[in-house]
Amino acid sequence: MSKLQDKMFQEIKNRNIFEQSQQYAFEYLENIFDRNVYPTEDAISDLSNFDEDLPAESTKAENVLNQLHVYGNEATTATLGGRYFGFVCGSVVPVGLAAKQLGTFWDQSPALHVLSPIGSKLEAVVEKWFIDLFNLPKQTSAGFVSGTSAANLCGLAAARYRILKKNNWDINEKGLRNAPEIRVVTGKHAHSTVLKAVSVLGLGKENIEWVDVDNQGRIIPESIPELDENTILILQAGNVNSGAFDNFDVICKKANKADSWIHIDGAFGLWAGAVDELKYLTKGIEKASSWAVDGHKTLNTPYDSGIVLCADKEAITSALHMTGSYIIESTERDGMFFTPEMSRRARVIELWSIMKYLGKNGIDEMILTMHKRAQQFSNEISQIPGFYVENDVVFNQVVVRCDSDELTDIVLSNIQMLRECWLGGSVWFGKKVMRVSVCSWATTENDISRSVKSFEKALALVKI
Ligand SMILES: *Cc1c(COP(=O)(O)O)cnc(C)c1O
Repeated sequence: MSKLQDKMFQEIKNRNIFEQSQQYAFEYLENIFDRNVYPTEDAISDLSNFDEDLPAESTKAENVLNQLHVYGNEATTATLGGRYFGFVCGSVVPVGLAAKQLGTFWDQSPALHVLSPIGSKLEAVVEKWFIDLFNLPKQTSAGFVSGTSAANLCGLAAARYRILKKNNWDINEKGLRNAPEIRVVTGKHAHSTVLKAVSVLGLGKENIEWVDVDNQGRIIPESIPELDENTILILQAGNVNSGAFDNFDVICKKANKADSWIHIDGAFGLWAGAVDELKYLTKGIEKASSWAVDGHKTLNTPYDSGIVLCADKEAITSALHMTGSYIIESTERDGMFFTPEMSRRARVIELWSIMKYLGKNGIDEMILTMHKRAQQFSNEISQIPGFYVENDVVFNQVVVRCDSDELTDIVLSNIQMLRECWLGGSVWFGKKVMRVSVCSWATTENDISRSVKSFEKALALVKI
């Protein structure tokens, strides 16, 4: 045995490093709900501590962990807490952290059933839970990917495969050169990851037929061009600014008649379909062909976790298929046929754990609470002179502005500087706005009121 091997066996035997990291982790978790939401300037400049050449000699494991703890910890953003409203992030349901820790030690790759029977089993179970929860077609298959960026790519790859196949064109063999034309129709507010998928797949952003949207960012159904069987229609559950939903029921009926492929980007919004009081927003989604949704946003799983759902199993498995003489296919679920990757971590472990822990009613309650906190934010901020809510708060997003673009910019940077909460900006129908995304299980009424006070203070600072 080499000296290094011996050292590594010792790390496992004496457990010190695992106890050390566990202690750091607990300390982090306990403090995260009250800590400054964004790192201080000092914490960020102290990151220069990491600027070093790769050491020639081995570093003591204890020191490796200590460096992360001392300099890394403080330079994290408190996305786990209740007052991080930036982008659309989401916290983590505690059991998900615990399950992820256990799963980390298992270090499973559910590419094939033989590689990880437990990973394969949990993926098969969660696939079924998704079908039931969102009332999707029974034959729908799920691929467990890193997020909605990947899920959009996979869903649209399946669409491309199917449309060309109907035209007697095998994209896998023939590629795109001289291929029959595929039309792409989507709303002017489609998410940038949808556009990225369109470019990566060689469909070309210039070829997109853009559909006008209303003042919430929803596709105007009457503005959709004539659809046909060579069209991919991309809809949205949850506009990234306003949280608005396309009118799936009406639009999908029309697209089904034309035999178009419908893909729904439901990164955070698809989850409205799991809430009794909100599922009117996703009415009709079952008429689509593919769906993309995140675990790591609304459901509050740890990073990274996205799911591509596809009603056309042959299309998605053909689009992502690969073979090799050493591949051992089984009659059980082999996860890699539903994802772009071969090896990937068994992120389904946390996903399963959180869904099992919450149950249907817990998922409903958690997400409805996010909606209520977003409404609370909207109500409280509207009462403060100088702030205006620009959207209908149908789900978890609130779009806020001040009296001018310039003022909105300054107030936003003051809010960020105060670090009581954190959020980013955007442009909404030509105006600078602040985006509040409520998507943490940990956000309480008090968190909202504290954050609204911070907005008020940020505006008052400008007037001094
Ligand atoms: C976040 C988001 C995406 C991208 O998802 P990732 O998980 O970050 O890859 C796509 N569409 C919408 C509407 C989103 O909100």
